[in-house]
Amino acid sequence: MAADSTTGLPLKPSSGLAGLIDARVNRTLLAPRPLSAEAARLHGELRVVDLHADFLLWNRGAWEFSSRGHLDRQRLHQGNVAIQVCAAVTGVPATALLGARRHPDRWDTIDLLGRLQGWPRQTRSSRLARALYQAEKLKAIIAAAGDSPIPLKLITSCRDIDEVLDCRSQGEALIGVILALEGAHALEGNPANIQPLFQAGYRILGLTHFMDNAMAGAAEGKTGHGLTPAGQTLVQQAQELGMLLDLAHASEETIEDLLGMTSRPVMASHGGVRATSDSPRNLGPAQVAAIGRTEGVVGIGLFARALGGQSLTLVSRAMDYVATRAGLEHVALGSDFDGFVSTVVDSAGLPRITQALLRHLEGREAEPSFASKKAIAGIMGENVLRVLRQTLPGE
Ligand SMILES: [Zn+2]
Repeated sequence: MAADSTTGLPLKPSSGLAGLIDARVNRTLLAPRPLSAEAARLHGELRVVDLHADFLLWNRGAWEFSSRGHLDRQRLHQGNVAIQVCAAVTGVPATALLGARRHPDRWDTIDLLGRLQGWPRQTRSSRLARALYQAEKLKAIIAAAGDSPIPLKLITSCRDIDEVLDCRSQGEALIGVILALEGAHALEGNPANIQPLFQAGYRILGLTHFMDNAMAGAAEGKTGHGLTPAGQTLVQQAQELGMLLDLAHASEETIEDLLGMTSRPVMASHGGVRATSDSPRNLGPAQVAAIGRTEGVVGIGLFARALGGQSLTLVSRAMDYVATRAGLEHVALGSDFDGFVSTVVDSAGLPRITQALLRHLEGREAEPSFASKKAIAGIMGENVLRVLRQTLPGE
């Protein structure tokens, strides 16, 4: 069993029921396929950034290779991923797994999943502890990957981004990882809890997940309220620290409130647009344009609710819509890998997105808005790199 030398955190893959659930809920629809020479060449030159994966929810060993789910170090490498955002899920009501439309903050399934996988006792009652534990887990994975051919580095500053990109430009296989919170319920009602989470390495703060919390209302929450006074304090503190705010899963009011108060770029990391998939989690035209005006990005997910179906064409279509409404510099990739969803491709299959974008581009040659390979480089990573550099602490 691999273990981190400092924390001794066990990295044994989960077996039994948790393993079965993992294998069943995180499926991939399309296998990697040979690419056109043009797509392979272009994808090999990209600096790919994926804005959302829930890998930390699952125990899959030291990440070297797994037959389950959507990513591991091998597959990230095959997909030429330079930076992967790793989100910590700390509360999911059972209603979310049963397909209900609105979710109360009850019947939490993460407690059960944690118990099945042997998470420490303190994670049973505390969502803050769950977030801190998942940060420790990622650090243990990074330590275990240390001397391997595909090492990892936790990114907490612009300097770390530069280091990862420099190493990669010299042919090293180093992959950067960024910690993100999926929902401010992990702060347990106290904005000051952002401090220990920042200290633990979190640099992205998603305000909500499925249910409303004390800081902000969720798209599928019971009331869907906006930012509360505590939420406004939290936003201010998080932005001062150098954290990127994420509007994925947020209610319309929360989106409006944050856009009304932010002077920094914000993002919606993993979702879709209502124009191509009419789900309450997806963004309307005015929201897409407004996120663009903050200089932020909209990350398109690779799952059915984000896309209105599951095909590479639908991925291109949603991305094109964001380009049209907000501008090419505001489109990004936010897969939702390993997030209790089937995705169109897994991490190793990301070159197929590049190929789909190239084909889409050929079909739209007359359109200036979506008309160069530079646009694809932006969508697949450069746009997010710009936002991270504008947001994260320098050192
Ligand atoms: Zn999500």
